[in-house]
Amino acid sequence: KFIVFEGVEGSGKSTQIQLAAEWLKSLPGKNQSAIVTREPGGTNLGRQIRQMLLNDPSNDIGNRTELLLYGADRAQHVESIVKPHLKLGDLVLCDRFTDSTIAYQGYGRGFDRDEIDRVNQLATGGLQSDLTFWLDLDVTIGLQRVGLRGQPDRMERANLDFHQRVRQGYQELANSYPNRIVRIDADRSATVIQMEIQTILTQQKWF
Ligand code: C5P
Repeated sequence: KFIVFEGVEGSGKSTQIQLAAEWLKSLPGKNQSAIVTREPGGTNLGRQIRQMLLNDPSNDIGNRTELLLYGADRAQHVESIVKPHLKLGDLVLCDRFTDSTIAYQGYGRGFDRDEIDRVNQLATGGLQSDLTFWLDLDVTIGLQRVGLRGQPDRMERANLDFHQRVRQGYQELANSYPNRIVRIDADRSATVIQMEIQTILTQQKWF
């Protein structure tokens, strides 16, 4: 099964995905392994693409180029990591997937949705998550958290409007796909959030 974690900066995706993976590994009698991966940057090529996207000193990547770089990262990731592990029957826990592109490049940058859908389709061959946890958080809180961690990344980190549009994008996606996307209130302690995630995963009866 393919389980994706989505959310704005500082929403706690990485923490929750790690906790979920540790929990899954600790379950007695499980016959599946869980792997953790991410986009952008889940493959060797992807790490180079991530570097290009997030640490471009000139910061002049065009919107169309950016969309295609995220697409290229995803195509490589789906082909060489996600699909092979799903074929083995593993649980694949992925930090960001296609909804990130819709939220960031679509709602955030205002890129045409049809074109984004086409790039996503091309990159994934139509693969979708079985379940997506959307860690929803007020963007000012998220950006504050990220600021405290001291990550420089791209200049959008400081652009509140951009991140608010991204959050709105996630909200609309969650409204459109209520069976696939579960909203998790991320303005709570990591432990409480993790308990809710574990409860929801247990209900799926996948392991
Ligand atoms: O969640 P993670 O730290 O991996 O995201 C890295 C950065 O990539 C974030 O700052 C986010 O703004 C950006 N991003 C993006 N478009 C995507 C995915 C991530 O702008 N489709």
